[in-house]
Amino acid sequence: MSPNAPETAAQRLADIKTRMDRAAGRLEGGARANLVAVSKTFDASAIAPVIEAGQRHFGENRVQEAQGKWPALKSAYRDIVLHLIGPLQTNKAGDAVGLFDVIESVDRDKLARVLSGEMEKQNRHLPCFVQVNIGGEEQKAGVAVSETVAFVARCRDQYGLDIVGLMCIPPVEDAPGPYFAQLARLATEAGVSQLSMGMSSDFETAILMGATQVRVGSALFGAR
Ligand SMILES: *Cc1c(COP(=O)(O)O)cnc(C)c1O
Repeated sequence: MSPNAPETAAQRLADIKTRMDRAAGRLEGGARANLVAVSKTFDASAIAPVIEAGQRHFGENRVQEAQGKWPALKSAYRDIVLHLIGPLQTNKAGDAVGLFDVIESVDRDKLARVLSGEMEKQNRHLPCFVQVNIGGEEQKAGVAVSETVAFVARCRDQYGLDIVGLMCIPPVEDAPGPYFAQLARLATEAGVSQLSMGMSSDFETAILMGATQVRVGSALFGAR
C-alpha cells in the first residue's frame, strides 16, 4: 500500500485489527495478539495520526532514529509502549534502556550482561524477548535454534533479565508457517509464554501459529 493511499491511518489500523481478529477467530479460544506498529523510517507527522487512532505499541529498529522522534511523542502521549525490534550494539544499550519499554532483540551473552547492568543502573527493568535466528541464516541476527533454551535460561538465571518470550524473522524466500510453529515449540521448551512473530505479509499465519504479538509496518504506514 502506498503512503498516498486514500485510506486514513485510522482506517488502515482498523483494517489490520479486523484481519487479526478474523485470524484469531479461527483459533480455539480466539486470544487476541498485541499489535506493534512498526514506524521505522516514518516521522512524527506520520506516527501521530496512528496514535490518535488509538494505537499505543510501536516498534523501531534503530536506537538513534528512535531518539530523534520518540522523546517528544512519548511526552505528548504518556502511555506509549516503545519496542526495540532491531539489532542492538552494546555501546547503545544505555540509550536503548532509557528510551525503549520492551527490548525484543536480545541475542548474545555480552548484550544480555550489558543490558542487565544498564537496567540496574537506570532502575528500569524492561521485559525482553530473545531473538531466534529461526532459519539459521548467516546474515541474520538471533541466537541459534539449538542454543535458544540454554540462552534463555542464562539470561534469566545469570543476568537476571525478565525474558517474556521469543522473537523471530523467518527467511523471506520460504513459507513462514513451519518457522512460526518451530518458534512456538521452542518457547514451550524454554518456558516463556510470548511469541513476537508475523509482519505485514504474514501476520495472519503467525496468529494461527500462536503469535501473541505481531509487528506490522508497511501495511499500516505504507511502503518504505
Ligand atoms: C521492519 C520490521 C517489521 C515490519 O515489517 P513490515 O513488512 O513492514 O510489516 C517487523 N519486524 C522487524 C524486526 C522489522 O525490522
